[in-house]
Amino acid sequence: MSDEKPQYDSNYFKNRVVELNNYLECSNFKYHTLGKPDISDEEYDALYNELVKLEKEHPQFKVKGGITDKVGSVVLDNLVKAKHRQPLLSLKKAHSIEEVLETLDTVKGQLFANGKLDGLALEIIYKDSKLFQAITRGDGVIGEDVTEAVKTIRNVPKVLANGRSGIYEVRGEVVIPKEAFHKLNAKLHNEDKEMYANPRNAVSGILRSLDIAEVANKPLAFFAYGIGEATDTYLFPHHLSSVLLEMTTMGFSHKRFRTLGGNRSKEETKKWVEETIEKFTKLRESYDVEIDGIVFAADSLSVREELGATSQYPRHSIAYKFPASVGTSFLSKVEWQVGRTGVLTPVAHINPVEIHGVTISRVTLHNPAEIERLGIMIGDSIIVSRQGDVIPKITKVLTELREKHVEEIRIPEECPVCSSDTILNSEGNFLYCTGVSVCGGRLVTGIEHFASRDAMNIRGLGIGIIRVLVEKGYLSNISDIYHLHEFKEEMYKLDGFGKASIDKLLDEIEKSKETELYRFLYAIGINGVGLGTAKRLAKYFDNSFDDIKGASPSQLEEVEDIGEITAELIYIYFQSYTNLEILYDILNRSGVYFMEPEENNLTKWFDGQNWALTGSFDFASRKEWETILEERGAKIASSVSKSTTHLLCADGNETGSKMTNAKKLGTTIVFERQLAEAIREAREMDNAEISFF
Ligand SMILES: [Zn+2]
Repeated sequence: MSDEKPQYDSNYFKNRVVELNNYLECSNFKYHTLGKPDISDEEYDALYNELVKLEKEHPQFKVKGGITDKVGSVVLDNLVKAKHRQPLLSLKKAHSIEEVLETLDTVKGQLFANGKLDGLALEIIYKDSKLFQAITRGDGVIGEDVTEAVKTIRNVPKVLANGRSGIYEVRGEVVIPKEAFHKLNAKLHNEDKEMYANPRNAVSGILRSLDIAEVANKPLAFFAYGIGEATDTYLFPHHLSSVLLEMTTMGFSHKRFRTLGGNRSKEETKKWVEETIEKFTKLRESYDVEIDGIVFAADSLSVREELGATSQYPRHSIAYKFPASVGTSFLSKVEWQVGRTGVLTPVAHINPVEIHGVTISRVTLHNPAEIERLGIMIGDSIIVSRQGDVIPKITKVLTELREKHVEEIRIPEECPVCSSDTILNSEGNFLYCTGVSVCGGRLVTGIEHFASRDAMNIRGLGIGIIRVLVEKGYLSNISDIYHLHEFKEEMYKLDGFGKASIDKLLDEIEKSKETELYRFLYAIGINGVGLGTAKRLAKYFDNSFDDIKGASPSQLEEVEDIGEITAELIYIYFQSYTNLEILYDILNRSGVYFMEPEENNLTKWFDGQNWALTGSFDFASRKEWETILEERGAKIASSVSKSTTHLLCADGNETGSKMTNAKKLGTTIVFERQLAEAIREAREMDNAEISFF
């Protein structure tokens, strides 16, 4: 299949519109009625947006009464239904500043803006100042009566502080704070219960629970953002912003809002909208609750009433959604790239999709196991996600939208670069080329790694000169490095290097022959063997290279932190005849040899302790911290397990899976500053011990 976007005929668009409609309808049902969403809100929005775009471009195929004609949610069956006195419609969504300005152009007078909370819309009705009923939005006309549940929410007044006679309807959003949401999910996870997909889903689930005691346990909060019917108009404010301020005197909470005065030019409005988006985008991270956009609206209550509503949306407001971090696309082909260690990585070529202003056309699929896990085929509709500014990934394959002409992704049996056989490990997550010495895909980077500081530390053998030497044919594998002196005269003539630098390089190569076993183990680039693993291997096998070379997978697994996969990878490496030949050349012909490792006589503050590290550090790099801890007797692991005694984390870093595990397992958590302080103190006082508690 070609890399180009396939040319689709009108039949395709017609089918796609119908399929998207059906799929979104199903998702709606799962989300609202079953309370079990199968796709995230953002994924839903991405598909919805595609549908809107298709229907706009091909209006003849629009499905009448389809998804794009319907208002938000559907009413549940197991709760009592209640009718809103005035419709509680959801807001029209905007994805660009232009769309916001288009709506605001029709609004007279003062403007209002506040964060669009990601929770559940709710109307609370007071009768003669007493909480009488609380109704969810439902379909905008009929919602569910959740009065008893809402009475348990701490910041909802049961009686209005300064009385109002008759009906007083407060509209707002029920939310769960971010932290509480994560705690709740962690708890559900620990109890082996199903977790909530997102905060909104959690709120909806909790509020609709019929077990009121259970609801009262949960940290829900209500933030007012509007008003419905109010019969007592004595001293009634004229603006929404004033209404919200007045509500605080009655006992309600609201979130920060901004206003812009009525005497405003188009330019001023535009500037204010841009500024508001910028401010709330910044605020978003620090907010204790999730906001997914900004509501821009008319502030004057009379203007709001005048503008009224369509059957779907009020005309006085528009919800600007923060740019989505997901988009829809489809897989056009898979290319296999060969990395330094010979691992073949499948790279998905996808139909270009713009997310956060960046056009994405290639996404890594990691390994064959991931392909299997996703169940992805060439031609499939996919969801691509780019959370924050991280590397994009395929989060979902929409098999429901699968076309007839999909093709299976073939796992190559031969390396695409050198045609050597490939091997797939038993877990299916490592596919690699067996042509160590010949594979061009890994040669340059493999040599660069071999020469790097933590490996053989050959200064002057950088990527630039390696490329030249490979091209000239002087280097075709790592053992050739030690034969480079045979090409000395030729190398002197190379452009851009000069005699002196070549002499210096050859000198460095000579010096590198005296090394340590662990450095060499790391240098030769066995899959899964990083510096730490190399050290542990050397130590476990008493610095005997021959023992390591001859070890069986089960013997290798005895080494701390070496699992089944790494053991298998090490074993396979030493089974390759080409590899053994290269090693023999380096060690026996060129005379690379291993010094006995020096035992340091530093005080072993961390003897017998197992440390893991998380976050990005300030005082020293992660590698430096590892060295410091190891020199002082600690063992370093890459993940937190039962045997981990300490977790070193960056200051202020309270999240992440290692942290979660450490908290669960009761591992001692040490912050970077704490460790730095403790070490400083111990050195000054010449202490033999460091303790953190
Ligand atoms: Zn290859």
